[in-house]
Amino acid sequence: MPILGAPLFTGTQISYSLVCSTKLWLFSNNVTMEFSSDLVGMGRFIHETSYSRERKNVIIDRIGIDFVKKGDRITIHEVKKSKKLDEAHRYQVYYYIHYLQAVLGIQDVDGMLDYPEMRKREHLTLTDDIRVDLERILRNIAETIRLPRPPPPVKKTYCKKCAYFEFCWV
Ligand code: SF4
Repeated sequence: MPILGAPLFTGTQISYSLVCSTKLWLFSNNVTMEFSSDLVGMGRFIHETSYSRERKNVIIDRIGIDFVKKGDRITIHEVKKSKKLDEAHRYQVYYYIHYLQAVLGIQDVDGMLDYPEMRKREHLTLTDDIRVDLERILRNIAETIRLPRPPPPVKKTYCKKCAYFEFCWV
């Protein structure tokens, strides 16, 4: 089902779109090197060993949510290793909230970014301004992944930790 006039994307695509359009294109076109990354492995370990009492790895359509906590309202949790890419992580959670609200009709939902290694968390709610940002981000993803080849890489400090480093720079 379309969301905000765009096709359905995964949270990873939302996050990558705010990090690097080359990475977004490679991932979306099935060039996957992610499993060889030590950082990704560490992230999975943190996720698998944290929050053991919650309902984890909830899959709704193509949306994979780390875990969901149900109290008075539904809270979507996304577990991350560090805050270095916090803006990308925030929009990943905003997208999940919007998806539950707009597509599934669940209104009483908010989000939480969890950083168990740092013992920190950030509460997230959707505002009209963020919805406008999301719409722009989704349009940008749709345009980028349809390109016949990946956008040229642009060097950034993040590249050294990216699974696509060799693809882009070696
Ligand atoms: S190595 Fe850098 S330029 Fe290449 S995909 Fe990763 S973040 Fe983007």
